[in-house]
Amino acid sequence: MMPLFEIHLVVHGEIGWFLARRNRKADLRLVRDRRASLKDILESLGLPHTEVGRLLADGMEVGFSHVPVHDCRVDVHPVNSPFDVTRPTVLRPEAWDKIRFLVDDNVGRLAGLLRAVGVDTLHTRGTTDFDLAARCEAEHLILLTRDLGLLKRKQILFGRYIRETDPYRQLKEVLSVFGINGPYAFFSRCFLCNCPLKPIEKETVSHRLKPETCRYVSAFSSCPSCQRLYWHGPHVRRMLRKMADAGIDISGANTHLLD
Ligand SMILES: [Zn+2]
Repeated sequence: MMPLFEIHLVVHGEIGWFLARRNRKADLRLVRDRRASLKDILESLGLPHTEVGRLLADGMEVGFSHVPVHDCRVDVHPVNSPFDVTRPTVLRPEAWDKIRFLVDDNVGRLAGLLRAVGVDTLHTRGTTDFDLAARCEAEHLILLTRDLGLLKRKQILFGRYIRETDPYRQLKEVLSVFGINGPYAFFSRCFLCNCPLKPIEKETVSHRLKPETCRYVSAFSSCPSCQRLYWHGPHVRRMLRKMADAGIDISGANTHLLD
């Protein structure tokens, strides 16, 4: 007969809902026929490692590769907000030097909105899960997605399963969780390619503008990469209003945009 081993698992906070319904108990006794790392045990229950902030085995702080002994009590704590990716922890000793996101297609509108508040954000469409994970590892990117399977890949050190469904509320969620506080550098990056925008003289672009834009708008900027032109028009006011409604600090925006 196979030897059995049992661990006593206590999942704290809201990450309990990642577990299959039958396992959603405050006090879970797991019986397994072989020993495994905590990362494997938690992910077999449905909980991606990216959502875990702290692990204790019989009261001692341990890493994901820890293999619990028989009858061990394991406490699983969620990531606390703000989640500081630049601070080394027992679970993630190789902290990163800055915040930079990679947005998955399933939350694609987040890419433009994060860029709209000046946050460095990449978005590659139609990429395989393998390539997304490899890119996160190689370029030190934080993955934002609603794909639980992708978050379980070991190459992804930092990531977030996006809870909200409305894009503006998703933006608020990401800014809060990763502690990105205002005032923000609104409309300082290209929505399409993430490149920082450069101011440009109206005279040099007037031939590309509609007459009414030319008449009412004086300040323009352009993307050095894709040459797209930007100015503060009604679309910008609409976006700022939606951001304010989602609870985002818009004090960094030019006040004349909020009329
Ligand atoms: Zn561009």
